[in-house]
Amino acid sequence: MEIPGDRIVLASGNAKKAAEMQTILEPLGRTVVRQSEFDVPEAAETGLTFVENALLKARNAAQYTGLPAVADDSGIEVDALDGAPGIYSARFAGPDAGDDANNAKLLEELRDVPDELRTARYQCLIVLLRHAEDPVPIICQGSWAGRILHAPRGSGGFGYDPYFFDPEWDLSAAEMDPDHKNRISHRGKALNQLMKALEGERI
Ligand code: IMP
Repeated sequence: MEIPGDRIVLASGNAKKAAEMQTILEPLGRTVVRQSEFDVPEAAETGLTFVENALLKARNAAQYTGLPAVADDSGIEVDALDGAPGIYSARFAGPDAGDDANNAKLLEELRDVPDELRTARYQCLIVLLRHAEDPVPIICQGSWAGRILHAPRGSGGFGYDPYFFDPEWDLSAAEMDPDHKNRISHRGKALNQLMKALEGERI
């Protein structure tokens, strides 16, 4: 089904995400505009799943702007914590918690957990709504498996990256250069799916 107009609104103020989306959408003749340019109020992330939260964010942006909208929701699930922090990753240590507080809480909760039980994965859901009432949104998902380190490694990335270790590469996410991370990450995989889905659409 065709996506109307030539602009797509990104339901996030994040400049880095906008640039990544632009790279995918530009060859298809689309311009990505951030929702902050329209003063769109933040959507309450009240869903119980990544996909619900991504849909809430995209629908909110589509409703306020009248444009097609793309949104992502991501987080990390830790097996020894029954999947926590999951959809609450950004607010694990509290509603206004920053990366340091979230990482400190994660380490504390895993204090006595041995390496082999520290398995975890990043998850990313990206959705695209052609309009606010679109009944068949494009839904893309990527995950990235690893384990949680006992001490930080590397200085790149953000969030949980210094503690997220990829045994296949023998590197933490924060030790990878950005291109490497983008190729193998949960977000990179979901974006790749979005690109393929859009190639199949007449947009
Ligand atoms: P969102 O922006 O509301 O989807 O929140 C995602 C949260 O999950 C971030 O604040 C981070 O805590 C965590 N997260 C998601 N993706 C990554 C990543 O690639 N590296 C590190 N942390 C991530």
